[in-house]
Amino acid sequence: MQTAPPAPLVMSRVAFLGLGAIGSPMARHLATAPSALVVWNRTAQRAEAFAAAHGVTAARSPADAVRGATVVITCLPTSKEVEALLGGPGGILEGIGAGTVFVDCTSGDPETSARIATRLGAVGVSFLDAPVSGGTSGAEAGTLTVMVGGDAGVLDQVRPVLQRFGQKIVHCGPVGAGHALKAVNNAMLATHIWATAEGLAVAAKAGVDPAVALEVINASSGRSNASMNLFPERVLSRAFPRTFRLALLDKDVGIAADVARAARVPAPLLQLTAELFRLAHDALGDAADHVEAVKVVEQWAHQELAPSAADRWRGA
Ligand code: NDP
Repeated sequence: MQTAPPAPLVMSRVAFLGLGAIGSPMARHLATAPSALVVWNRTAQRAEAFAAAHGVTAARSPADAVRGATVVITCLPTSKEVEALLGGPGGILEGIGAGTVFVDCTSGDPETSARIATRLGAVGVSFLDAPVSGGTSGAEAGTLTVMVGGDAGVLDQVRPVLQRFGQKIVHCGPVGAGHALKAVNNAMLATHIWATAEGLAVAAKAGVDPAVALEVINASSGRSNASMNLFPERVLSRAFPRTFRLALLDKDVGIAADVARAARVPAPLLQLTAELFRLAHDALGDAADHVEAVKVVEQWAHQELAPSAADRWRGA
């Protein structure tokens, strides 16, 4: 006899761990009914401020946060930090109960995810890797893309929870598939940023104003999200808002390069992009935004990618 699949968890007690630049706006969508939210953050003041602002509970430890939760969501810099939160006094494994679904929204790595899934599986907890795309603005708007690795039936159970912050939720394959795809996506983002910067620098040296070059590229075949959105809004404007740290993009491209090597896929462009973003991260530091990598290309070319004074005067 076939057993019915578990019902979706519409009413759920959610523990959210990691209230960083993207975790915080994601968690905000879960702060109201039908979920009851408990938050935990390494820097406790952040969790306390979030709890006070949204009328939810701030837990003192990961164990306290996950005790009694039906769904646990983590959003930390790398899988290393997620794995480190599992064990030890006050760790996740001390509080988590069998039957809980653990959703890791970190942009992590497939190898560590497999280890985490095994450790959680041993205590009856299902693991999904569920990294997100869409940036902090997508998190604010609740329109993130969520790419999920793990059991498709478990995903169906927690889909109503993920839909609170995600618009497109896609099952990608077994545990680690979401993390692998996210790393590949971000490696492509990095490639587009770097290629657009080099292209605009070369065009500028040939006498084409960067604003004019972008206008043409964005109506031609060289366009990308980088050329259509990031460069006009962040580079030409010289605004460079800090929404997604270069350190994190460096980590993502590194994961994609590692996955390529492990799979023995020759991927010279990807490996070079990993090297360039490591170099940019070293040069610009941990606080820099990912789009600031463009500044390295500008330095090398002795060419700022800003509209010329004449174009600024015309309001271009
Ligand atoms: P941030 O650097 O803004 O925040 C990191 C979070 O992790 C903070 O809550 C921080 O706590 C916590 N943290 C850091 N180290 C530890 C540790 N050792 N133990 C426990 N907690 C720790 O990162 P983001 O929010 O930007 O990114 C989170 C994840 O989401 C990353 O994997 C990133 O690649 C991914 N992502 C980010 C996007 C973005 O636009 N920002 C877009 C898509 C994915 P504390 O407050 O104490 O520092």
